[in-house]
Order: sequence, then structure tokens, then C-alpha cells
Amino acid sequence: MQSLLIKNIARLVTMNSPKVITNAAVFCEAGKVKWLGAEKDLPQNLNATETVSAEGGVVMPGLIDCHTHLVHAGSRQHEFNQRSQGVDYLEIAKAGGGILSTVLSTRKATAEQLYQAANERLKNAMKLGTTTFEIKTGYGLELKTELKMVEVIGRLQKDFPGRVHGTFLGAHVVPREYKNNRKAYLRLLLEQMLPQVAETRVCSACDVFVEEGAFTFAEAKQICTFAKELGFEIRLHVDQFADGKGGALAAELGALDADHLDYVSAESIAAMAKANVVGVALPGESFFTGGKNYPPARKMIDAGVKVAIATDYNPGTNPNYNLWLAGTIAATQMQMSLDEVLQAITVNAAQALKINAGKIQVGETADLIILAAADEYYPLYNYGTSHVRQVILAGKCCK
Ligand SMILES: [Zn+2]
Repeated sequence: MQSLLIKNIARLVTMNSPKVITNAAVFCEAGKVKWLGAEKDLPQNLNATETVSAEGGVVMPGLIDCHTHLVHAGSRQHEFNQRSQGVDYLEIAKAGGGILSTVLSTRKATAEQLYQAANERLKNAMKLGTTTFEIKTGYGLELKTELKMVEVIGRLQKDFPGRVHGTFLGAHVVPREYKNNRKAYLRLLLEQMLPQVAETRVCSACDVFVEEGAFTFAEAKQICTFAKELGFEIRLHVDQFADGKGGALAAELGALDADHLDYVSAESIAAMAKANVVGVALPGESFFTGGKNYPPARKMIDAGVKVAIATDYNPGTNPNYNLWLAGTIAATQMQMSLDEVLQAITVNAAQALKINAGKIQVGETADLIILAAADEYYPLYNYGTSHVRQVILAGKCCK
């Protein structure tokens, strides 16, 4: 049986209780954590087929990116060039850029092309320490291409030794061909896309972008109510450009999480705290688009909302999958403490995905990272570069 012993760990950050064990060791067997503790207490009878040294570094849970759009074709680098010259996002969207340009490229690409590109991104992000990913559809906006994206996410789920969770986002925006007939697109979503995506069992959740220019509060309610009947969990893109009572809607629908939240109201924050809806902040997006407004993470945490941080990797508004970097931006722009940031990219992100992960404990899947750093805060401080020495997925060294 394959087993792995990690020794010489200066700080084992379990994100559990006790949170940190110094001078520690971890033993993994058959993909799970079997033993952890101070190295001096290591049982004599553990027989490891492989032993690695953390070389006096940190071992902590692999990071969890609970909001990404990793499957897409095409680049929108030219939009970045345009924005750098002062052209604003709305003008770019009117000229055929924005989400709809990614939709056109994604429709044209084959499943194989989408898979190869997404797999490359997944591996790069894994080398930076992310071991669990949520990936959304939403660049098809027609039955055929949405199912093609689901197929690609399904293949990544099988092939990637870490964890991949699919989310159906057919309600991302109304595609151009339905611009004057959004009711027909809603019918397509409800009558064909949702039932067929449900059958594949690749996507455990359904997401709706609730915003002016995307879907209304009432439409979101209708889509999510039906999605729940089909067995989907709910997550929402809300309150990004204005308060649309999206946080309160997430609470009312029993959503796992509400994401973006740049303009979330105090009423919505209170409702989310009460309903235990995770608030997912995406600070990399405000940073990359030059936005002055960041989600009020401090207010949410103080009101009792669990806050997670994700990258929102996408080709337009944040082409970056470095979750550490998102954490540094959260600390500098959203007044989160470094401990709150670490919580946000591990255990709180796990809650948003409704999975047992983000902690190191006996019996759990051994998705761990070894950092070449004196403590777990250092990668947030010496930001923009990687401090990950080794990634362990299901008990096996991968990086
Ligand atoms: Zn998103």
C-alpha cells in the first residue's frame, strides 16, 4: 500500500485544533492522513513507502479556490491593453468584447482544445498550492456548448489527482441571439439545459449572475428554485456593481455562498449571517480592473458571516489563479487579518463547496502543501512569488 511520511516540519498548520503543531510529522496512507503529531511521538511501527523532509518548512492544507472560470477558449489580453489606454469596460463590451467574446471563442473550440487549455491552468495553479477547484460553465449559453463545458469539467474531475467541483452557470448573461427574447432563453435554461446537466452529475451546484445586464432577482429565484428541485446546491454572483439584495436572496434560497458582494447591504449581511451563507470575496478582480471598491469583508466577519476568498480566474476581469496573491490583496484592501485570510482560503472555502477539506486531520484526504517558509504567513508577505516546495495530492507527491 502506498504511504508517505513527511518529517522535519517546523510548523504543521492543521487549521484544526490545535491549529499549529511545531516540530511535527505527518503520515499518510491510501490517500488519507493516518497519523499526525510531534515528530518525537512518531510511532515506531509506521512503515512508509516514501519519506520526504519538509526541511524545516511549513506543512498546511492545500488551498481551495471556490470560484473560478478555468474552462474557456480565447484570450482577452487586447482588452487589458485597451483599458490601460483609458477605454472603459462598458465601451469594450459594446464593441463586442467582454463575456460575449469569450462565449464566441468557447463555442468555436473543441472539447479537446478546452480540456488541454484548462488542464494547463489547473496544473499551474496546483504548483502555486491550490489543490481543490470549483469550475463554472457559462461561456456556452447554448445547450451544445454548455454540455461541452460540462464534459470538459467532468474529464478534469477524473484526471486531476486533486479535487474539482463543477458548477452550472448557464445563467451567466443572456446570449446575443436571445437579446430581444429573454423569456425564450429562460425556457431553454429550465426545460433543456438544467435537466440535461443534472443527468451528467458533473455539476453539484447551479449559479446565477444576478445584476443589471445579466439576470433579475425574480428570474434568479425561478431558476434556483427549479435547480434545487433537481438536486443542485445554489451559489450566486451578486451585488457586484450595485446592491441588488443579492445577499438576502442567497439567504432566502438557502445558497451555500454568495459571491462578489462589492455593494452588499447591511440587511443582506445580517440575513447571510443568520442563514450561514458563506460570503465569497474576489479581491483580485477589483485589483485587476482598477476598481476602487472592495467587498466589505471586515463588516461581514464582524457580523458573523464566514468569508472565503477566491480568485475568480477568468480571461477578462482576473486572468490570475494565484490564491496567495488574492489573499495578500484581501489583507491590504479589505482589512482582513492574516489568520482570517488563511481561514478564507482553506476551511471557509471548503464550507462554500460543502466538502470536508481545508484541514489536516486523521481520516481526511491528504491534500497538503509544503512551504519553503518559516511560517504560513510568509507567502502573503513576500507576495507574487511561489513558496510552495511540494504539493501532495491524495497522499502522493505531485509538484
Ligand atoms: Zn465569476
